[in-house]
Amino acid sequence: MIQANIVLGAGISGLTAAATLRHGGHEVLVLEKSRGLGGRAATRRWDQLPVDHGAQFFTARSDPFRAQTAAWKELGFCHEWCRGFHRYRDGALLPPEADHHPRYVCRRGMSALGSALAEANGITIERQSKVTRILCQDRVWTLTCEDGKSFRTHRLIVTSPPPQGADLLAGAAPEATAFLRGMAMDPCLALAAQFPRRSIPWHGIQSGDAMISWIGHDTSKRPDLHHDRTIIVVHASPAFSRAHYGEPEEKICEALLVRASEMSGEDLREPESIFLQRWRYAMPVHLPEGPPALSFDLPAPLILAGESFAGGKIEGAWLSGRAASSLSSSA
Ligand SMILES: Cc1cc2nc3c(=O)[nH]c(=O)nc-3n(C[C@H](O)[C@H](O)[C@H](O)COP(=O)(O)OP(=O)(O)OC[C@H]3O[C@@H](n4cnc5c(N)ncnc54)[C@H](O)[C@@H]3O)c2cc1C
Repeated sequence: MIQANIVLGAGISGLTAAATLRHGGHEVLVLEKSRGLGGRAATRRWDQLPVDHGAQFFTARSDPFRAQTAAWKELGFCHEWCRGFHRYRDGALLPPEADHHPRYVCRRGMSALGSALAEANGITIERQSKVTRILCQDRVWTLTCEDGKSFRTHRLIVTSPPPQGADLLAGAAPEATAFLRGMAMDPCLALAAQFPRRSIPWHGIQSGDAMISWIGHDTSKRPDLHHDRTIIVVHASPAFSRAHYGEPEEKICEALLVRASEMSGEDLREPESIFLQRWRYAMPVHLPEGPPALSFDLPAPLILAGESFAGGKIEGAWLSGRAASSLSSSA
């Protein structure tokens, strides 16, 4: 069987592309390597509690995404968390500079956005299907997965982070590969630490510090859920993440918690438990100018999409997915 459309990746961009195609009456299949949905909008259940260890919150600055956010809010998928964060500058913790942009979060965790997109639109998803090879022959794309299964399609949308997309397309689409090779990503070491419940006077701290870019008070996103624990999420800076990426978990966590304590004024050095997530491809190094998704009319239509094409972040991923679907339906 040849699918009309295949989307590689069930992150926000891939699921938005699939949802928009379905909405327009097109058949689509999504292939996703993980068990969960949402990609880097990721949540882990930790002792029954949701913890966001990828994207922490999202903003909605464009009209179409504001409308989508309003619909999610109405359905109870997300709510406003705050309007700004504390800042760590020149050795001092400064209060938030509130702007007019709500920061939204999800009560069940950020991965709820992926579930919302998939469930509301009845998208067919092959989970735990890691694509390892892509070929194009006779105007048909063939994607082969790690477990040996293969899938064929007339139109392919690739939404994996650009370096991973480049590796997969190297044999089949050199021009697209060259484009993706120019879109480097920074890594991020993200840790979550659990403490007995304590009162913390900030939602999050943003910083240009050499070691830490973000300290988040995850529990404050869901005040009704937690009664006896406080969870803090720390994201290392791109420079620290690159320099220490492969080091042992204990060493990385200790260094980050000592620094997070200095920055926040809270003693975070002795958590009850902890986990570390290593994001090899966390955020784009640069955001290229250009269209929100890119179409190649190779022997068969190929569309490249993802946050990097549309300004980054959750909003960029959503806008790019939407653009990819209209390119695919007109290809
Ligand atoms: C630590 C961290 C913090 C962040 N904080 C924020 C924030 O606070 N606010 C914000 O707006 N954004 C934030 N972001 C960015 C945000 O998460 C991304 O912009 C957005 O989730 C990207 O969506 P995407 O669909 O473009 O890519 P992804 O989410 O990366 O989706 C790509 C999907 O493709 C799948 N995939 C990859 N390779 C294969 C393969 N070979 N076969 C099958 N499937 C494959 C992946 O598993 C993934 O599900 C953060 C990201 C990280 C990592």
